[in-house]
Amino acid sequence: MPSHVVIVGGSMGGLRAAEQLIANKFDGIITIVGDEQHMPYNRPPLSKDVLAAERDEQNSTLDHWHSSVAFRQRKSIADVQWKLGTPAVSSDLDSKTVTLADGEVLHYDGLVVATGLRPRRLDLPGPKSGRHVIRTLDDAIGLRGELEPGNRVVVVGGGFIGCETAATARTLGCEVHIVEPLAVPMIRPLGEEFGNTLRRVHEAFGVHVHTGVSVERAVACGDDSRRLSAVILSDGTRLDADVLIESVGSHPNVEWLDGNGLDLGNGVLCDNHLRVESRPDVVAVGDIARFPDPATGNIPRRIEHWCIPTDTAKRAAVSLIHHLNGAGEDTTVFSPLPSFWSDQFGLRLQGYGSPGDADHVSVLEGDLSNPIDDDPSALDGTVVGYYRGSQLVGVVMISPAPASARKYRDAIETSRAAVLTS
Ligand SMILES: Cc1cc2nc3c(=O)[nH]c(=O)nc-3n(C[C@H](O)[C@H](O)[C@H](O)COP(=O)(O)OP(=O)(O)OC[C@H]3O[C@@H](n4cnc5c(N)ncnc54)[C@H](O)[C@@H]3O)c2cc1C
Repeated sequence: MPSHVVIVGGSMGGLRAAEQLIANKFDGIITIVGDEQHMPYNRPPLSKDVLAAERDEQNSTLDHWHSSVAFRQRKSIADVQWKLGTPAVSSDLDSKTVTLADGEVLHYDGLVVATGLRPRRLDLPGPKSGRHVIRTLDDAIGLRGELEPGNRVVVVGGGFIGCETAATARTLGCEVHIVEPLAVPMIRPLGEEFGNTLRRVHEAFGVHVHTGVSVERAVACGDDSRRLSAVILSDGTRLDADVLIESVGSHPNVEWLDGNGLDLGNGVLCDNHLRVESRPDVVAVGDIARFPDPATGNIPRRIEHWCIPTDTAKRAAVSLIHHLNGAGEDTTVFSPLPSFWSDQFGLRLQGYGSPGDADHVSVLEGDLSNPIDDDPSALDGTVVGYYRGSQLVGVVMISPAPASARKYRDAIETSRAAVLTS
């Protein structure tokens, strides 16, 4: 009997895992289970191009939007079996089975966990309509329908996705407020000085930024108790609102793995080869995988960047195939370079490494205090270095020239390599 690998999670991580299994000569059967109806698609455009796109008769269908963001289906995965629109609800890793919501039980020889994240929701009293998150294509299309010019939009959470969504809504002509509980937007990934510069960019374009406060309550319209009309902040401020976008973090989708004795605190704990603890027939990929990286101190962590589903899938496929073939352990150290980007008001932020690990920050090129007015390109070419002691652990650039991006990417690679060989 040919081996059977079940991949749970039909998005980028699941797709890349199937491609990598086949690229590494797995010749058994692969089944991908996904709870979304759609074939895998790219999420970064959801808070950028999909939200910003003009709406007209021709492009308003779900199929149109899906085809604009869908991943290319390579010929190599033509024989993969897809079970979409049916979530996995439970699993028994001793008997090697996964149970789907429709009652079907899948038996596997190898299992790939690729179920990613779902948005955290605010527990707010008040009306539920007008409240949005943005994780799926359906979320983005639902939100796009409410971003009409003049509509009042409150974005809770000043992280990358919250700030991107705020920038897009403002560009569409909405009146936009960001509500961030910390002192500065994007302070965790970028630090105080950079975060304050991006605050100035948002304010220059007319976004109102409220920091050090949270949303306490949603208020309904007088004539319709289900419709949102305002939110009340923790300092008592009232912000009129037609739309509330909750961008306040996420939960790993791990519940279907409950009862197997795994460490599921903040994702699925794996070893450096993406094997789930004491289960060499189970690997995890993408946003849900919590794995140690010797270049960043070996503390297991999840990384929510677009590059990670591909990098982890490459490593996890090799680990699983070694196990299924009874081959000895591949001891190659896995240390993927985190890389990320964000687009806001025409600025492209490009980052490498782990800026959040820094204990001090230094502007290496340009000037974060340059005046912006309505032209943020005054910041183009700025490069900020993030240091832990004397080690460069991260770099974030604003709209860098390609040669500069390569130079600083190389610098981070060199710095990480030095840790690995020390
Ligand atoms: C709006 C948005 C913008 C982003 N922009 C950027 C960016 O600019 N730059 C960047 O570097 N990264 C960005 N990212 C992050 C990047 O898109 C993610 O890191 C990547 O999508 C993770 O892929 P994944 O396959 O691991 O998880 P996911 O994409 O979350 O996929 C998991 C899949 O599993 C499914 N699933 C969940 N539970 C079950 C179950 N029980 N059974 C079956 N299926 C299940 C989910 O529905 C989903 O389809 C962005 C993400 C979002 C949401």
